[in-house]
Amino acid sequence: MEKAVAGLRGRVTFDALLRGYTSFKIGGPADVLVEPADIDDVCRLLAQASATKLPLFVIGGTNLLIRDGGIRGIVVSLSKLRTIREEAGAVLYAEGGVGMPTLIGYAIRRSLAGLEWAAGIPGTVAGCVVMNAGTRLGEMKDSVKAVQIVSPKGAFIHCPAESIDFRYRRATLPPGVVVGVWLQLRAGVRSDIGQIVKDYLHYRRNTQPLTLPSAGCVFKNPLNDSAGRLVETWLDRMLG
Ligand SMILES: Cc1cc2nc3c(=O)[nH]c(=O)nc-3n(C[C@H](O)[C@H](O)[C@H](O)COP(=O)(O)OP(=O)(O)OC[C@H]3O[C@@H](n4cnc5c(N)ncnc54)[C@H](O)[C@@H]3O)c2cc1C
Repeated sequence: MEKAVAGLRGRVTFDALLRGYTSFKIGGPADVLVEPADIDDVCRLLAQASATKLPLFVIGGTNLLIRDGGIRGIVVSLSKLRTIREEAGAVLYAEGGVGMPTLIGYAIRRSLAGLEWAAGIPGTVAGCVVMNAGTRLGEMKDSVKAVQIVSPKGAFIHCPAESIDFRYRRATLPPGVVVGVWLQLRAGVRSDIGQIVKDYLHYRRNTQPLTLPSAGCVFKNPLNDSAGRLVETWLDRMLG
């Protein structure tokens, strides 16, 4: 285990309790939790981990149920990969650990429209690509231009959106850690974008128990219907 994490510049914690890293606020220990200092640190970690053949699992923490027994091997959190920059043509680049709420705030300040649908989703941008996170207003595949991955051997892979198979709440990507995402947005009016986000957050606050530990939705929506509506209809029938 020590060999896999030798020389890393980020934070390395042995027997790290994961409950503080999940929105469910539960989860036992990781043998070792690594928070790489930057993308180069991720490359080094993956190369060393594959040489030692230790299993490696990446967490953002908001769509995960981690058992009390925890996770064996290496758990990686990209909590320190938080760079965001605007590139030419209304493109935003975000490192994998950037939280969606932070990214939406940045897009509003830059008057960039296209991410309003994601208001209220608490995951990292990388986790949202892997899950093809979405709401009734849109989903990640609508905005992804390209994804930067570090392969299990520690090499960079550039994946244009056209090469990614986005499905309902999942995306098929090459194995590895998503360390950066390019999003194609469009120029908008700052106050309009801010208002849409505000209204949608208001709607979510009124319809979802956001202050309680959860991982958001649990059930898959059937075609042309909502799991929430079906559960509530069933509850109404059962209760009364
Ligand atoms: C209150 C609340 C509301 C929510 N609302 C929504 C919603 O409206 N729509 C929606 O789609 N989801 C929603 N979610 C669920 C969750 O936020 C999304 O699924 C999000 O995409 C998960 O991102 P994460 O970074 O937390 O990833 P995690 O949940 O930690 O991981 C999900 C999967 O992605 C993998 N993964 C994570 N990061 C990486 C990486 N860097 N590289 C490779 N693999 C990685 C993990 O190994 C795991 O398999 C909600 C959750 C909460 C708590």
